[in-house]
Amino acid sequence: MINAKLAAQSHVNHQTVVKLTEQVAFGGEEVIIIGGPCAVESLEQMEKVAEKLSAAPIQALRGGVYKPRTSPYAFQGMGEEGLAILTRVRSRYNMPIVTEVMSISQIEVVAAHVDMLQVGSRNMQNFDLLKALGQAGKPILLKRGLAATIEEFVMAAEYILSHGNPDVVLCERGIRSFDNYTRNVLDLGAVAALKQITHLPVIVDPSHAVGKRELIAPMAKAAVACGADGLIIECHPEPEKSVSDARQALSLEDMVNLVDSLKPVAAAVGRNISEAMGVGFKPAPIYCAA
Ligand code: PEP
Ligand code: MN
Repeated sequence: MINAKLAAQSHVNHQTVVKLTEQVAFGGEEVIIIGGPCAVESLEQMEKVAEKLSAAPIQALRGGVYKPRTSPYAFQGMGEEGLAILTRVRSRYNMPIVTEVMSISQIEVVAAHVDMLQVGSRNMQNFDLLKALGQAGKPILLKRGLAATIEEFVMAAEYILSHGNPDVVLCERGIRSFDNYTRNVLDLGAVAALKQITHLPVIVDPSHAVGKRELIAPMAKAAVACGADGLIIECHPEPEKSVSDARQALSLEDMVNLVDSLKPVAAAVGRNISEAMGVGFKPAPIYCAA
């Protein structure tokens, strides 16, 4: 039994709803789809993404401006210049924005510009960062560490909750295993388990899980089928030219088609993929243990 006083599901089967805006909320009937590039590269890039995806429709945009790269010589993100680009597309397209914070010093400025702060896989157990995010005043998207157990993941969420922020969405993004044919191994068992043992919304990132664009659509469908409350998917106007994670970037056309193909899967499990941005909120079916 995981000793997570705040994150654990209680006998009353409560489902926490995390609101990004009045219209966009995780944990309802609606499967929320976040799309956008791995990294913000230019205003032109983000405008193309926002224009195409707002019509898809997806409900929120992603784009990293502080990038946790394996090599210190790789592109590290546009920083505050990138935040200014996110702010512009946010107001122009009226779409909420999710972006990553890597350090405590970035929290204030990022929280002032966007709607949800992402904690990347590599920072899932950065406990000082998690504690500080308890006071961020914005919802947190907490990604599972690449070698974190389910218990460690839930306890990381517990850090944020216990420091004052109730708005945490969990994100399964694949874990390391012996086989690197896929970048990681998408642990859908964890999604079903987290839906049962916590009351927090759980979303899936199939992009970082498989690392290859041709494998993303089937994994996105599987994620919706097993009860995910949302998806976060990387896409780019010119996928091959992405400065980071090019191999897993979908084209904008593929992203629109993917959203469409998820509708019957969502319907089969009592969920809904929005036909329009900002539809009314309905509660989700409960996925708890019998
Ligand atoms: C990302 O979302 O761009 C990212 C770096 O993901 P992760 O932390 O899951 O590797
Ligand atoms: Mn990426």
